[in-house]
Amino acid sequence: MNIFFQTFGCKTNQYDTELLRARLESGGGVATDDYRRADLCVVNSCSVTAKAEQECRQFVRRLLRENDTARIVVTGCYPSHAPKELSDLSPRVEVYSNKDKENLPACLGFEVAPDVWGLSRFAHRARAFVKIQDGCKAPCRYCIIPQTRPDYWSKPVDHVLNEVRDLVDSGHGEIVLTGIRLGLYRGATPTGKKCDLTALLEKLVALAGSFRVRLSSLEVTEVPDKLAQLAADTDKICAHFHIPLQSADDEVLASMGRWYRFDDYKDRVETLRRHLPDVAVTADVLTGFPTESDAAFENTYRRIEALGLAGLHAFPYSTRPGTVSADLHPLDRSVLQVRTRRLIGLSDHLKARFRGRFVGSRRVALAEGNGEGWTDNYLRVAVPGSVPAGELVGVSVL
Ligand code: SF4
Repeated sequence: MNIFFQTFGCKTNQYDTELLRARLESGGGVATDDYRRADLCVVNSCSVTAKAEQECRQFVRRLLRENDTARIVVTGCYPSHAPKELSDLSPRVEVYSNKDKENLPACLGFEVAPDVWGLSRFAHRARAFVKIQDGCKAPCRYCIIPQTRPDYWSKPVDHVLNEVRDLVDSGHGEIVLTGIRLGLYRGATPTGKKCDLTALLEKLVALAGSFRVRLSSLEVTEVPDKLAQLAADTDKICAHFHIPLQSADDEVLASMGRWYRFDDYKDRVETLRRHLPDVAVTADVLTGFPTESDAAFENTYRRIEALGLAGLHAFPYSTRPGTVSADLHPLDRSVLQVRTRRLIGLSDHLKARFRGRFVGSRRVALAEGNGEGWTDNYLRVAVPGSVPAGELVGVSVL
């Protein structure tokens, strides 16, 4: 059976698709990039913004239009909170929630090899994502994830070690650990002892082989000093920490339901810099939250500029159904657009400033096979085209 896969959203979702693909292939499925000729189309959706859901619906409609025989399956965060919005598109659309993902192969009639619980290669990618955690119950008033991924789960420690070993043996020189709340990882060892993220990393950096680990994203309260110290003591953990900030204004943080204040964030950034002088700290910033006044936005802008982060992922507030803030009157779209544009401009300035510190220096980059790659501290650099994808190589920052 020819199977087409489409993924929307985060690294955790991309891992879910890749694992589903490996499992269906072990049951005789053949992945194809041509959805018009597929017998089965699997769409793994995202609900973090209204736009992500709209893109998913548009894609499903295209599948329905351009392939009138394939079985169409939609899973992921969208059907986990609004299955009817998808099944109403056509009787041909089958919906499965995130909770159903584990049994999805069986639901689709595939007999899966029992030992396919992890990945041994990540197709079409130089670096491999490894999902080690799932679930979030945080009180963020704008976020739908606690509705779509409510249950905490952590991958057993020996499963993580074996999976990383297999991926490194397959040529992936960089492993990106991912989860919904990566910092809440609490995996069990074979003896039943619980390991937090730092303890897991201690075991990972002790593994043989030429590879390094990148952490996808950590909440500000999940960056303990011991983690910063471990990262400083080894070159097997990338000097790049992506830590969502969302706002630098304490009143806005409070109304968002975020559980820290700007000084807590600043303290963690300074702690990381003390341990790792070349560290890149990047942040998510949500702009245009309904209670964000002009003054609060200017406060956020000024504070981020002064903190000198290495880059931002700025995105406008999106009203999510069923969230606490859904009842708040949203700001005018033009305000969101102006503020997002200004933060993107600030991010470009911060990136240039951060890069400027390293021009002329040597760093280690992961080759992507296209003549480019990322350094450990998240600088985009040129890499000799002859270096195979997935290999770590010394380069000069130009
Ligand atoms: S921490 Fe907050 S923003 Fe992040 S997934 Fe959980 S609820 Fe959503």
